[in-house]
Amino acid sequence: MTRLAGKTALITGAARGIGRAFAETYIREGARVAIADIDIDRARATAEDLGTAAIAVKLDVTRQDSIDAGIAETVAAFGQIDILINNAAIFTAAPIVEITRADYARCFEINVSGTLFMMQAVAQHMIEQGVRGRIINMASQAGRRGEPLVAVYCATKAAVISLTQSAALNLIQHGINVNAIAPGVVDGEHWDGVDAFFAKYEGKAPGQKKREVGAAVPYGRMGRAEDLTGMAVFLASAEAEYIVAQCYNVDGGQWMN
Ligand code: NAD
Repeated sequence: MTRLAGKTALITGAARGIGRAFAETYIREGARVAIADIDIDRARATAEDLGTAAIAVKLDVTRQDSIDAGIAETVAAFGQIDILINNAAIFTAAPIVEITRADYARCFEINVSGTLFMMQAVAQHMIEQGVRGRIINMASQAGRRGEPLVAVYCATKAAVISLTQSAALNLIQHGINVNAIAPGVVDGEHWDGVDAFFAKYEGKAPGQKKREVGAAVPYGRMGRAEDLTGMAVFLASAEAEYIVAQCYNVDGGQWMN
């Protein structure tokens, strides 16, 4: 299994969760990976676990200086970047009448501006180096439709799908394929925070929301990070050369177009 042999990937938010699973799988497929995360201690621990094909890079997707420094550090270590996964994001929830401008701005800054300006900076690098690269953006089922308590997060993920399409149509002339993955509900530490929001706003007992959403998935359980790794490898592989501007659902059957 070396479909990514010789490739270098920068994965944002890879210190834990889905991003970490992507990093592990990419390394098994022969890639070298920059674990780029705002939480540098966790990123270092993850990189240490994953061995010599991984490096930890401190990168805050909301700061241009940090984006530039993280890319420069990755290029210094590995020579170039062939694959970018825009995975870093935060979740927020509140009824419409309680949404604050601060929460709104932070969620958009990380999930949307972070995705756009990471794409911009890595695409500049790829164009300069003549790299026919791949960019994969993490969308969500939440970007396909509204939810009563999740307006802001849903809107950020709808924006990620839209940005994916526009960036793809613009960058394919340089041989850079941009696509997205839309997971459904995926178990992990992220869900501790989600559960806390629903405990607050819907009076759910701890873990109750998670059990409910898991039971509602047609496949019969919540997703796991490992359920997404096959699609992430495929989109970065030679087999996906002709795939441009798509957003693939990997969600156990929750959404059907
Ligand atoms: P997670 O919360 O477990 O991990 C997110 C990572 O992003 C963390 O390591 C965090 O430190 C990092 N991060 C946060 N802000 C950052 C910043 N400003 N700069 C750089 N890194 C930052 O998330 P996850 O559950 O693994 O989700 C990964 C992706 O998948 C996200 O884009 C998320 O929206 C999407 N997604 C998750 C689910 C789910 O149910 N878990 C469902 C659909 C989509």
